[in-house]
Amino acid sequence: MIPITVVDVADAEPLVLEVLRSGVIAQGPMVKRFEDAFAEVAGVPHAVAVNNGTTALVAAIEVLDLQPGDEVVTTPFTFVATLNAILEAGATARFADISRTDFNLDPNSVADAVTDRTKVLMPVHLYGQTADMGKLVPLAEEHGLALVEDAAQAVGATFDGRPAGSYGIGCFSLYATKNVTTAEGGVITTGDAALADRLRVLRNQGMRARYQYEVAGHNYRMTDLHAAVGIPQLEKLATLTDARRRNATALSEGLAGIPGLETPAVLPGREHVWHQYTVLVTEDAAVDRDEFAAKLTERGIGNGIYYPKLVFDYDCYRDHPRVIASDAPVATKVAEQALSLPVHPKLTAGDIDTIVTTVREVLGA
Ligand SMILES: *Cc1c(COP(=O)(O)O)cnc(C)c1O
Repeated sequence: MIPITVVDVADAEPLVLEVLRSGVIAQGPMVKRFEDAFAEVAGVPHAVAVNNGTTALVAAIEVLDLQPGDEVVTTPFTFVATLNAILEAGATARFADISRTDFNLDPNSVADAVTDRTKVLMPVHLYGQTADMGKLVPLAEEHGLALVEDAAQAVGATFDGRPAGSYGIGCFSLYATKNVTTAEGGVITTGDAALADRLRVLRNQGMRARYQYEVAGHNYRMTDLHAAVGIPQLEKLATLTDARRRNATALSEGLAGIPGLETPAVLPGREHVWHQYTVLVTEDAAVDRDEFAAKLTERGIGNGIYYPKLVFDYDCYRDHPRVIASDAPVATKVAEQALSLPVHPKLTAGDIDTIVTTVREVLGA
C-alpha cells in the first residue's frame, strides 16, 4: 500500500526529551522558539502559536470585534473547520463559488456575494496553492473587508513572491497530516504588532499578567511538548516542500493525456506547496470518481476525497440561522470529481511509477 500521507516526526526525539526532562511542559520557551522559527519560515513578522488550526481561525475572527449579523464570505469547498470557526466566533457565514483552475474562491463570485453586512473575506488556500490574492486583496480593500486567510494547508506557498498568511491575518494548522505538524497545533500570523499582542492575550484567558484580565479570553495555548515536535520540521521545510514539488511534477508528466483526467494546474506567479495533489475525474473518464477511488484502493494506491460535498450541505447546517447557503455550481461539480493522490515527501521514484501505471490501468489509458 502506498499511503496518501506519512507522518514522520522521529527526529524530534531529542528536543521532546529535552522538554520532558526540563519539567516545563506547558507553554514556555519552546513555544517561543517555535513561533520565531515559524515566522521566519512563513515570511511574516509575528507568529502566535495556538492549540489547533480551528482556534487560530476563531481567534483571528474574534479580534476583529464583529457585531451580531456581520458576515464572513468564504468558500464552500473546504474542510468543515473553516465554517465551524466562523460560527464559533459568532459570525454569519456566506459563500461564493470557486474557480475550477485553482479550487479557490473566484473573485467575480466573491464580488457578487458581498453585502452591506460583509465584514470579513476568508479565502482558503486549498491543497497548498494560494487563492487569487491579486484580485481578492483589492476587492477586500474596495469593500472595507478584513482579510483572514485560512492557510491551514499552505505553509510556504506564495503569490507574487509574497507568502500565504502575510496578506491578512494568516491561520495555519499543524495537525498530524499537514505539511508541518505538532500533532495538534495552529499558528496565527500578522504584520501588525498590536494585533499579535491582542492575540497572545486572547490565547491565554485574556490575561496580560497574573490575574490581570483584559478581555474574555480562551485557553488556546500550545504546549512546549508540541512545539518541540514541530521545530525540526521547520528547519527542513524547504527540502520537504521541494520533494513534494518534484513528486507533483513527476505525477503530472506521467498522468498527462489521459482522457477524462485533469491534472492540477500551478497558476503563474504562485508557488504551490502540494499539501494535496488533486486530479479531476470528468465525464470522459472510463470510470466515475468513486469507482476510480475504489479501484485505486483495491490496487494499493492510497487516495482521498477532499471534499465530497459542499461544506454547508449537511443536515446540521441546513436550518442554521447563521449559515447562508447559496448555489455554487463550480464547487458542486468539483466536489463530484476531485480525488487526491499521494504526493508526500516519502514517495520513492518507484512509488510514483506505480501510481502512474495503476492510474493508467484503471482508466484504460
Ligand atoms: C486542517 C484544516 C483546518 C483546521 O485545522 P485543525 O488544526 O485540524 O483544527 C482548517 N481549515 C482547513 C482548510 C484545514 O485543512
